[in-house]
Amino acid sequence: MIQGTGQVAARNVGKRFANGVEALRGIDLEVGAGEFVSIVGPSGCGKSTLLRLIAGLTRATSGNLTIAGLPPSAARRRRQDLAYVFQDPTLLPWRNVSKNVALPLELRGHDRAETGSLVERALEMVGLADFAGAYPRQLSGGMRMRVSIARALVTRPGLLLLDEPFGALDEITRQRLNEEVLDLWQRDRWTGVFVTHSVPEAVYLSRRVLVMSPRPGRILSAVTVPFDYPRVSDLRTDSAFNSVVGEVSHHLREVRPQ
Ligand code: ADP
Repeated sequence: MIQGTGQVAARNVGKRFANGVEALRGIDLEVGAGEFVSIVGPSGCGKSTLLRLIAGLTRATSGNLTIAGLPPSAARRRRQDLAYVFQDPTLLPWRNVSKNVALPLELRGHDRAETGSLVERALEMVGLADFAGAYPRQLSGGMRMRVSIARALVTRPGLLLLDEPFGALDEITRQRLNEEVLDLWQRDRWTGVFVTHSVPEAVYLSRRVLVMSPRPGRILSAVTVPFDYPRVSDLRTDSAFNSVVGEVSHHLREVRPQ
């Protein structure tokens, strides 16, 4: 990873789709290099759209958005600057774990030896070194998501965008993956932008939780999470933790459409 490459700066960003739907309006967002931020908000408020804008998968129709000073499409082409994890792990069923994780490196033209060692490291990081030869159908949902995270991190991105990655998993697996994501983040300190419906998950992971309004999505409040890293799993039962969860939930209730 190139240090300091992951910062996001959005100024007055808006997105109106060709069909006239205004998804986002006046988004101002600063995410510092190495910061972990979560975004919560009602369904359809534009969270995925915002992540897709940051990823360079779709373009803002107003305002200015940069990743490490570059337009998102340029950051995306460089690939070492950002990577994306979706709720659906989107693994290729005919490729084994190791070959799935190798894909972004193959697309970038890395040679075999370098690809081999980067893939090995990524699989070790997510605890799947023993499953390198397994196929996606042989894995549990949690393991498939770990492969997806390894595939995102294998290029050592400065910025990792996660769109509701654990929404389809059971609660215990979800909590375990939250802890693993924090371990990975602490190791390499990429910048993280995490979209979720779960307020406890957002609070557990993040330095700041941003609450969006219903469509057109705007960022209405930012709650700073006061707990130092590393965070231990017991934090979730702490009364101070629950009071921050309560504060975010309160903001969410305020923005919910009547
Ligand atoms: P969220 O992730 O918060 O649930 P989305 O970003 O997926 O919300 O969607 C925000 C709004 O934009 C929704 O009303 C959705 O229907 C609309 N939308 C998303 N993508 C498109 C598109 N490609 N064309 C038109 N409308 C879209």
